[in-house]
Amino acid sequence: GRCVVAVDGPSGSGKSTVSRRLAAALGAQYLDTGAMYRAVTWAALDSGIDPQDAEAVAKVAGELDLEIGTDPDDPFTRVGGSPVDREIRGPEVTGAVSAVAAVPWVRQLLVAQQRKIIGAAGRIVVEGRDIGTVVAPDADLKVYLTASADARARRRSAENAADLSATAADLDRRDRLDSTRAADPLQQAADAVVLDTTELGIDEVVTRLRAMLDR
Ligand code: C5P
Repeated sequence: GRCVVAVDGPSGSGKSTVSRRLAAALGAQYLDTGAMYRAVTWAALDSGIDPQDAEAVAKVAGELDLEIGTDPDDPFTRVGGSPVDREIRGPEVTGAVSAVAAVPWVRQLLVAQQRKIIGAAGRIVVEGRDIGTVVAPDADLKVYLTASADARARRRSAENAADLSATAADLDRRDRLDSTRAADPLQQAADAVVLDTTELGIDEVVTRLRAMLDR
């Protein structure tokens, strides 16, 4: 039957790995909503638009031909038919994405697309910042993943082979922007299960979530 799992939390909390593994284990689809904000950001930068220019960014978002793959074993992001998976994880996009995600009209547009994908999938694990609160408030299970700032910075810098202190500063800046913006800030849903992944391994988190869904 239908099963929607919402996974929210800050960057480096283990959201992506947990969400993909859980989706694969459930035979469900997987939606990375962060990739959608990143794709809009990439397109804006690619057209030479200032990410702080909300009006110009909104226009880019409205005209974007965005495709997002929901197979947990092969997620992809395409813009105008071309893959942008590598580009959207680069430092330029990461540095500008919070500004783009703060534009209310960009959020409205992407949230509508996300709800359409969720409705069509039926069984899906969705990761982001506002899934349990805004995108899918009636999700069957809401998870909020956290981890110490230290652990999050260590994971991200290992993933990107990037400098630890620069990564920590970037995460801190992005978390602050994402949690304090006016439109749909990162927030824990009142009915979310909170898991701290600082000490918990990925497998343990996935096992616990599966047990919750089996009940
Ligand atoms: O999860 P990821 O780090 O790829 O997300 C990139 C950025 O996209 C976040 O820092 C946040 O600004 C934005 N985002 C958002 N709402 C979501 C998912 C991501 O605002 N549901």
